Amino acid sequence: MELIRVDIERTKVFQGAKCEFNNIKETFTRNLNEDAKCFSRNIYMNEIFMKKALEEAQKAFEKDEVPVGAVIVRNGEIIAAAHNCRELSKDATAHAEMVAIRQACEALEAWRLLDCDMYVTLEPCSMCSGAILQARIERLYIGAMDPKGGAAGSILNLFDDYHFNHKTEVLKGILEADCSQILKDFFKRKR
Ligand SMILES: [Zn+2]
Repeated sequence: MELIRVDIERTKVFQGAKCEFNNIKETFTRNLNEDAKCFSRNIYMNEIFMKKALEEAQKAFEKDEVPVGAVIVRNGEIIAAAHNCRELSKDATAHAEMVAIRQACEALEAWRLLDCDMYVTLEPCSMCSGAILQARIERLYIGAMDPKGGAAGSILNLFDDYHFNHKTEVLKGILEADCSQILKDFFKRKR
């Protein structure tokens, strides 16, 4: 009799554990699906904003400037859009990212670009990477890498190798083929 009772108790415990396991499994699967949905939505949004940066790069191309474009996004809204205009403005600092940061600071009336993300078609140089960190940009989305001058992993990595008091998250390879093609077309035409 005692043995049967123990067996019943054991079965109860086992069933309870099984039920618990199923609950965990269900929650896990649900979270995984939500994450996947969120992830694909983010990819979609990232491509939309990188396309806007590419439109800026195209403007530079038409003005015979090296075609690099950048946009700054806050709460899903573009607050600055700019392209490289070094030649026209005769200003060594007029890279797309620098111009966009100035625009965004003006728009927000602040030097701290809180909750702002930047999308740029080409990996930023050391000057722009420094400015991105100074402006407290939260996330940086890069199209193509720049093996000759990039400071987000190519010749150095200001975002990873150094310990500044601000950390900008970097995501690379957004519409990479398009971002690099416009530069190839530009330099082919130049030759
Ligand atoms: Zn730059």
